Amino acid sequence: MQARIVVLAGDGIGPEVTNEAKKILDVVGQRFGHAFAYDHHLMGGCAIDQKGTSLPDETVAACLQADAVLLGAVGGPKWDIPTAVDRPERGLLAIRKALNLFANLRPVKLQPELIHASTIKESVLEGTDMLVIRELTGGAYFGPRQEAGDAGYEAYDTMLYTRPEIERVVRLAAEAARARRRKLTSVDKANVLASSRLWRRVTVEVMQEYPDVTLEHVLVDAMAMHLIRRPATFDVIVAENLFGDILTDEASMLAGSMGMLPSASLGDLRNGHNLPLGLYEPIHGSAPDIAGQGIANPLATILSVAMLLRHSLGLETEAAAVERAVDDVLAAGVRTGDIADAGSEVVGATMMGDLVAARI
Ligand code: NAD
Repeated sequence: MQARIVVLAGDGIGPEVTNEAKKILDVVGQRFGHAFAYDHHLMGGCAIDQKGTSLPDETVAACLQADAVLLGAVGGPKWDIPTAVDRPERGLLAIRKALNLFANLRPVKLQPELIHASTIKESVLEGTDMLVIRELTGGAYFGPRQEAGDAGYEAYDTMLYTRPEIERVVRLAAEAARARRRKLTSVDKANVLASSRLWRRVTVEVMQEYPDVTLEHVLVDAMAMHLIRRPATFDVIVAENLFGDILTDEASMLAGSMGMLPSASLGDLRNGHNLPLGLYEPIHGSAPDIAGQGIANPLATILSVAMLLRHSLGLETEAAAVERAVDDVLAAGVRTGDIADAGSEVVGATMMGDLVAARI
């Protein structure tokens, strides 16, 4: 296969972790006979510096033509100016919107070797392996809103959903569940919110197409509790934008370190493609405190490459090979500083990338 991948390395440790991710793609290409071509573009603080905007038009155009987009991270103190009209993070929101990426997927799988890194009891965490899917382009973040204005008396946001917006993300979640342990948990607040009642009704309708997938509904407040009380009982979780935003961060704590967690944001199928365009990125930020030191953990970005291979290129064997290589390296006791414990061999980003590449 030949694939063109747009790389948005971004700021801080972004270039360091995307370099390791490209190393992994290269070795996957050699091992399995694919040719991956990279097209580097600017987004975030580096784009503000060089182009005067966090998301240049040519970056959007290149992403729309690509088979997949790999992102490092954006932001940093240099661009944290309260009066600035543009910020690196604006680029991130704008690219999701421009590419119509409506579903954010965050797998949370506990690596047995890292069980001590979490703040939660080992007996609770054991067996945790879930995929949290957050709706990304609807709900309160995009519905009609009113700022309080100078008088500061009244303000509102509107949690607005339409039937097609719910259908497409639930269908994507159901397909994901079908490829996993066939259980879907839909999160809503149907006892209070009208948009949640529509969410639940549409979910039930869509799931009639998936009789082989078990469906459960959990209210969002109860879900906040169950996630840390019985995380191992969940397979695929689907939630609207605001609930998903909160729950994905909570779920990320189950895995111990932010340096380990990948994510994918997926859009619709495009003409001439049978797989969706996707943007793949680690969930962590640009880590300005460690940027340039060569000590960043590249594994979240490398695991994002596995998601890229699986979801946008349809290369499941290759994706599994990357994930297995990461497991093997961790099982051998190799760690970056953020996940190190007594007795582990601590390496930098480049060496970690080399070791995973060698395993593949
Ligand atoms: P952060 O995720 O960058 O860092 C939080 C802590 O985790 C830091 O101590 C950092 O050193 C550590 N860390 C993060 N990733 C790591 C890795 N791969 N290896 C080792 N340690 C790692 O969050 P922050 O400090 O709140 O934000 C820094 C900047 O990143 C801000 O400008 C923020 O807006 C931005 N940000 C960007 C994204 C994104 O691009 N998607 C996401 C979150 C934050």
